[in-house]
Formats: sequence, C-alpha cells, structure tokens
Amino acid sequence: MNGRFITEELVRDLIATGDICGNRPGKGGWVFEKQYDGVQFKLICDIGADLEPRIVTGVSEIVDRDEALGSDRWNESTVHQVELRTALSRDAHEVAPERMLELESLTPIDVKGHRVITDDAWDYVECVDCGMRTRSKADLSSTACN
Ligand SMILES: [Zn+2]
Repeated sequence: MNGRFITEELVRDLIATGDICGNRPGKGGWVFEKQYDGVQFKLICDIGADLEPRIVTGVSEIVDRDEALGSDRWNESTVHQVELRTALSRDAHEVAPERMLELESLTPIDVKGHRVITDDAWDYVECVDCGMRTRSKADLSSTACN
C-alpha cells in the first residue's frame, strides 16, 4: 500500500461504506470502490476463512483534478504523484510524450524499484537514484536501479 496513498483510516472507511463490486462468487475476491474529493479508490480484497477481508492491493486514480486539487484532504504533490502513477500504469508500453508534458511530480514515487520524478518541461520520468530516463514502466521494470 506504500506510495498508493491509502491510509488505514481510508481502508476502514472503504470497507465500511464503499460500493462492493467485482465480487466473483467462488473466487473470493471483493473490490470496494469509493470516491473521495475527486480521487477514486479501489481496494481489492480476498476473503479469509473467518470472512474478514484481507487486502490484496489498493489503487487510486484522479477522476476530478480540480476537485482533488481544491480539497483539503489531498495536497498538490499527492495529486501529482497519483496522476503520474496512473499514467505509468495505464500505458504499460510507453506514456505518450504529450501526456508526460502535462505531468509534474517532483516528489519521487516508487515504480518497479526506481524512485522517479518528472518536471512539467520533461517528456520522460527520471530516476533520482540511477538517473535513468524513460516513459515506460516496462523499461523501469526490466532495468535494475544502481
Ligand atoms: Zn533507478
């Protein structure tokens, strides 16, 4: 959950009040979804033998940028980090250069073992540790960070 901005408090609230969807009978997977101030959260759970949800992963995505930026709940750098993570995750092959130019996240996010940032004048992300520049999550995934 680290770096995905889902706090324990949010997890509790998602399970208590989120919409349950993606429940596939026999497969044990439950998905809780809810929007908080322009950010959509999705919590993917397995159900244990005791019927308590066990969190598998959490995903966040900006659905209303203005609302998210105007909210007291989220600070600007969090919104930017979520946007960058979403862009890299959605386009597994490579993020379009013009899309990268719209993004700015100067607080590093962890992606496949690298800590990447992007400036609004860059059409790539750069790892703050190894200096690697790319637009592709697959590249980050296949290259070790030195
Ligand atoms: Zn690196």
